[in-house]
This record gives sequence, C-alpha cells and structure tokens, in this order.
Amino acid sequence: TFPAIRITRDEATKKTAAALVDFPEAELMDGDVTVAVEWSTVNYKDGLAVTGRSPVVRRFPMIPGIDFAGTVLTSAHPDFASGDAVILNGWGVGETHLGGYAARARVKGDWLIKRPAGLSARAAMAIGTAGYTAMLSVLALEKAGVTPAHGPAVVTGAAGGVGSVAIALLAKRGWHVIAVTGRAETEGDYLKSLGAAEILDRAELAGPAKPLAKERWAAGIDAAGSHVLANVLSMTRYGGAVAACGLAAGMDLPTSVAPFILRGVSLLGIDSVMAPKPLREAAYARLVTDLDLGTLEAMTREIALTDVFTVAEDILAGKVRGRLVVKVA
Ligand code: NAP
Repeated sequence: TFPAIRITRDEATKKTAAALVDFPEAELMDGDVTVAVEWSTVNYKDGLAVTGRSPVVRRFPMIPGIDFAGTVLTSAHPDFASGDAVILNGWGVGETHLGGYAARARVKGDWLIKRPAGLSARAAMAIGTAGYTAMLSVLALEKAGVTPAHGPAVVTGAAGGVGSVAIALLAKRGWHVIAVTGRAETEGDYLKSLGAAEILDRAELAGPAKPLAKERWAAGIDAAGSHVLANVLSMTRYGGAVAACGLAAGMDLPTSVAPFILRGVSLLGIDSVMAPKPLREAAYARLVTDLDLGTLEAMTREIALTDVFTVAEDILAGKVRGRLVVKVA
C-alpha cells in the first residue's frame, strides 16, 4: 500500500467523500509506466474534484490530482526507463484515471513527458497545469500574431494560478500587463511584483458587456469566462486576440459577434488536458527559458497531502494566491 487521497461515492445519495488512506498497489489502473510521485499541485479542477462541487470525477474510487512530477520505477514503454524524471498534466488523470495525490501512479507512457533539465520536480509542479496552461495561452497569442507593439495585454483571474504565471510570462516578453483581480487591495503589490503594470478591479468587468466598448488592450488571457470574458472581448482593440482558458466566473459567454465581425478580434480556445505531446514539449521548453524561478517561488506555497482538503475549499472560494505545490513523498 501507499498513502493516497481517495474519493468514494455513496451510490444511494450520489455524495462523494475524500479521505487520506493507505491505497493498495493492486488497485492501480492499467498503464505501461509506474511512477514514484514526488510532487503534485492543487488546481481549480482539483478543488472541484476533492470537494465534489462539480462532477469532474467520473470513476470511483478515484485518486484526485490532475498533475504530478516523479521518477519512473518500472516501464514497458519504449520512451521511458527506470530512473527517468517525468511530468504528467491532464489526460483525464484525477478524473477518469487514478491521479497524482498518491505516492504511486500507473499511467500510459504516451501521457508522460520528460522533465526538462534545469527544472526540479517541485518547480515543475509549482508551474503545474495552471502554469502550463498559461504558457499554452501565451503561445496561442503569439501564433495569432499579436505582439507588445500592438498594445497592452489583459489577464483575468490575475491572483490565481493561471493568472499569476500568465502575468510573469507576458511581462518577461515585454508586454504592458493589466491584471484584473477581485482582490486589488490585498493582492495589488503581489501582482505588481510579478510584473503587472496596472491593476484593474474585477467589478469593472463583472456586469453585462456592451457589444463594443472602448478599446483597451490588444491581447488577453482569460481564466474567468462569463461576463468577464465578454467584457474583455468588447474592450479588445481592432485585430487583437484573446485566449480563453478558464471558467472561474462561469461556463457561459454572454457576448455578441460584434468584436469578431466589427473589430476582427480572435477568440482562441485553450485546452491543456488533451493537448498533443509536441505542443506540451514546446510549452515546457518556453517555460524553462521564460519563467524566472525566483518569481515562480514567490508565487508558490508548499503544502502536505493532509492540507489538500482545506485548500480545495479555498481555491473554489477564490482565496488562493498563486500556486500550491503538494509534497507527496
Ligand atoms: P485559481 O488559482 O482559483 O484562479 C482563479 C482566479 O479567478 C481566482 O484566484 C480569482 O482571481 C478569479 N476568480 C475567482 N472567482 C471569480 C469570479 N466569480 N469572477 C471572476 N474571477 C474570479 O484557479 P486556476 O487553477 O488558476 O484555474 C483558473 C481557471 O482556469 C479555472 O476555471 C480552471 O478550471 C481553468 N483551467 C483551464 C485549463 C484548460 O485546460 N483550459 C487548465 C487549467 C485551468 P482574483 O481574485 O485575482 O480575481
């Protein structure tokens, strides 16, 4: 057995419960690589899984944890051998396949990437799925052809995990970053320390959006969705682009086609879960060069497996600053 967080579901009430248990190795699911997990993280989706607030878990029992970093113990996959340092993000791990809040994970080798030299397992998880998604968003904006010369970049959910990493990455590349937060009073200095040039109160973007509003930015990374994204789109300059990667404000998008057909604005969809391996490797390669490790550490708090239950509530309540790393072993 090994220590793990296990989610079970009462079939009568459909209620789920999460607890730290000794998990039997024999109950691990099929996979061609077994990994000794060292670090995991708490992302927004992990908060949903652990609290049972939203039905992201689709197999019971489940070990939550949508990402992990560790060392290969045994492998029948041609690309991996015992001792390899690996990272996993997504692929349904922690949702349909047993996940990262456990000292052992057995997964498909096709899901793993080699941990880049120069990135510790802890730093890889300080980045985590949130930070890797922020990088995917930056890559999408670059592919769309928007640059700092076109104007500022807006980041919503700024003090959260995706937002914090997005600010650091954009600032490093020379963007004038406008950070949108609901916590300007407590997190303003923090956001500026990451590289934000301006702080914008989330309340300004929280109401119903006009089809078009005053043009304020050329690019955006949105972790919020709903009215926030609708307002971001309506304030995007002619020819700009917005990467939509989250739903912290809601799954809906109450907008019109005006920004697209009258200003040529592009809405770029970002998915980290099923992203193909070459894109993942490109994202990590850029994270290694672009993300300052001191800045990453400044946005990261370390917790133990036993702390996951409380912080799962906190992250859904929007109370977490930056990134959380979970020391698994
Ligand atoms: P997080 O750390 O909780 O950050 C979310 C942030 O959103 C909060 O810190 C808060 O920032 C802001 N927020 C909270 N409630 C809000 C509301 N009602 N309206 C507007 N903003 C609100 O979570 P995360 O791990 O960074 O994830 C952020 C989002 O991205 C989540 O929706 C997550 O599911 C999504 N995500 C998607 C992918 C993908 O593959 N597309 C991957 C990772 C994450 P402020 O207090 O600064 O306003």
